Amino acid sequence: MKIGTPKEIFEGEARVAMTPDSALQLQKLGHECLIEAGAGAAAGFADEAYAAAGVTVVEGAEALWAQADIIAKVRPPSDEEAVRLTESKLLISFFWPASNEALMQLAADQGASVIAMDMVPRISRAQKMDALSSMANIAGYRAVIEAGNNFGRFFTGQVTAAGKVPPAKVLVVGAGVAGLAAIGTSTSLGAVTYAFDVRPEVAEQVESMGAQFVYLDFAEEQQDGAATGGYAAPSSPEFRAAQLAKFRELAPEMDIVITTALIPNREAPELWTEDMVKAMKPGSVIVDLAAERGGNCKLTVKDEKIVTDNGVTIVGYTDFPSRMAAQSSTLYATNIRHMMTDLTPAKDGVVNHNMEDDVIRGATIAHGKAVTFPPPPPKTK
Ligand code: NAD
Repeated sequence: MKIGTPKEIFEGEARVAMTPDSALQLQKLGHECLIEAGAGAAAGFADEAYAAAGVTVVEGAEALWAQADIIAKVRPPSDEEAVRLTESKLLISFFWPASNEALMQLAADQGASVIAMDMVPRISRAQKMDALSSMANIAGYRAVIEAGNNFGRFFTGQVTAAGKVPPAKVLVVGAGVAGLAAIGTSTSLGAVTYAFDVRPEVAEQVESMGAQFVYLDFAEEQQDGAATGGYAAPSSPEFRAAQLAKFRELAPEMDIVITTALIPNREAPELWTEDMVKAMKPGSVIVDLAAERGGNCKLTVKDEKIVTDNGVTIVGYTDFPSRMAAQSSTLYATNIRHMMTDLTPAKDGVVNHNMEDDVIRGATIAHGKAVTFPPPPPKTK
């Protein structure tokens, strides 16, 4: 079948869902690849590189959507794109179905199938298709780089002829996929790194990366936020009070704070309050990776960088993966390629949309003229 990737039209989006390398792999599955002219330019992939990889370069989005059977893209379709999702087309992209119900219904009504990359079940077998994790990994890395760029000192401690420099102190709040990537980057740059999470099971991982896990003096165990499925649940008022008290104690000492705390289907918990920002030293930096969902820091402004009266820089950007478009496109295109491998079991260029397969079923939100979201829980781990 023909797999086509259009140029992303969301303002500022630099990623692309197909790379010359992923196209080579897709062709080995028996598919033909198409790319809209210029689609990879912002991520550093020229039309010539696609052509050299056997991809047909198509002029204009309309022609691309009309010719492709399968559309692979990054962002959910715009209204203009959605009308091109006609009978029997398959769309593979991020979709956020819970927030885009009308769009999902439209796709189903038009007879298109949609695989939402954000709905890939987080089970072991699906890790290679887990685009949420591959993008969170990049965001965590980039958050540290962004912090360093706004911080006027070294990360690592140094003894130089011109004087002794202490290492920076970095606190990472939330040790999920993005938080762990931030911890790894911070320790490898030589900062003294601390991390906190409501899920006590991550303490070992944090410590194995050379960071110190922040424990609370709270009852017997720091377990209040742990819930099913590996995700966090909202904390009790007592737990939250203990957590904030600990953060208040740490705030004057920390040079950089990277917040990544999220709870599924909720606004981000507010964990870094105004008084904590005020208690930080001038020149300190906060990078709030939860900015998209309201922010973990009270003073975060979404998509902006601000400097407070006491000289603390707060970064609320929500497009970290797009700021590293070459890397994120490579990983995202690989996630899509793995999805296509599962959809093309005979490697004969024919899609078998097998709704008995846990991963395919979980990620499919429209199929056979019906909305198929939310999916049943996966049967396997
Ligand atoms: P997430 O983005 O939903 O949340 C980020 C982190 O914030 C989580 O670690 C969460 O515990 C933490 N958090 C929530 N409230 C907090 C608070 N008040 N204070 C401090 N931290 C708080 O999580 P994620 O990165 O998507 O990962 C969630 C889980 O899913 C992890 O257990 C991860 O290992 C697991 N996971 C599994 C797979 C797989 O098996 N395929 C893939 C990815 C992630």
